[in-house]
Amino acid sequence: MTSSAPNPASFRLVRTPIDLRFRRAALFSREWITPHYVRVQLRGDDITGFTSLGSDDHLRIFLPEGPAETVEELRASPSREYTPLQWGEGWLDLEFVVHGDQGVAGRWAATAPLGDPIGIGGPRGSMVIEGTPDAWFLAGDETAVPAIRRFAEQMGEDAVGRIVVEVADPEHEITIDAPAGVPVEFVHRGDAAPTAALIARLDGIGAEDRPEGSVFGFIAAEQAVVKAGRALLLERWGLDSDGIVVKGYWKRETAEYHAPH
Ligand SMILES: Cc1cc2nc3c(=O)[nH]c(=O)nc-3n(C[C@H](O)[C@H](O)[C@H](O)COP(=O)(O)OP(=O)(O)OC[C@H]3O[C@@H](n4cnc5c(N)ncnc54)[C@H](O)[C@@H]3O)c2cc1C
Repeated sequence: MTSSAPNPASFRLVRTPIDLRFRRAALFSREWITPHYVRVQLRGDDITGFTSLGSDDHLRIFLPEGPAETVEELRASPSREYTPLQWGEGWLDLEFVVHGDQGVAGRWAATAPLGDPIGIGGPRGSMVIEGTPDAWFLAGDETAVPAIRRFAEQMGEDAVGRIVVEVADPEHEITIDAPAGVPVEFVHRGDAAPTAALIARLDGIGAEDRPEGSVFGFIAAEQAVVKAGRALLLERWGLDSDGIVVKGYWKRETAEYHAPH
């Protein structure tokens, strides 16, 4: 371990625009992964040809509250941002945090009847990792799990690093497949405020814990995580701001939060 060795650039983050498309689909199936986390599959001919190059890409889902026959009606519906998890010819899987009975999207994912219509916009651009990081540091709450799953999928078998995920308690831990050199650690928030346990964990990681070489860092959770995430990756680990992603994926007491992209 070294504290502040300059990064040899074994990788770089490249931002790539994608032609924005609007697609229509329908809810096909749902699979509960924990009591508050559900994977849904959307199906529709429009999904054929769907592309998402970056592991933390997001799309905008449009959720009509009543019948929506036309594209215009779908586009006028409430919309929220989600990470495309996996897809194929005519199908797309997303994973949702179901947070109480609040929230248009969380409620839709938990309760919408199969066959319900949905609009999908984007992704409008991707952040692609060119090259191979020497080490990975991924952290977040459940909203970041789809992106973390995708980053883990793109790692080589000999990848090293660590993944830290905040969930409510052991019953809500979500299995994430990652190479043996990238252990997955869960922190439990219990009754504390969202992200408090993750922030405490990040604050406990010191300069001496910095992996050697060129580290890719991704941290996303409730907006309060941004300060602690930047303090770790930029100040204590001395990483280059062009080689990390630290984002608020949602904000307490704020519906339809728009993260700066
Ligand atoms: C780039 C990006 C990618 C994202 N990918 C995913 C993803 O793949 N899966 C996923 O589940 N989320 C993801 N999110 C987060 C998701 O967009 C927000 O959680 C969104 O606010 C949920 O919409 P909603 O309609 O359920 O709640 P809203 O109507 O937006 O909010 C209603 C209330 O619920 C609260 N709230 C919102 N989200 C949560 C939460 N997770 N836990 C507790 N309270 C909450 C709000 O503070 C507000 O008080 C992503 C966000 C971004 C920016």
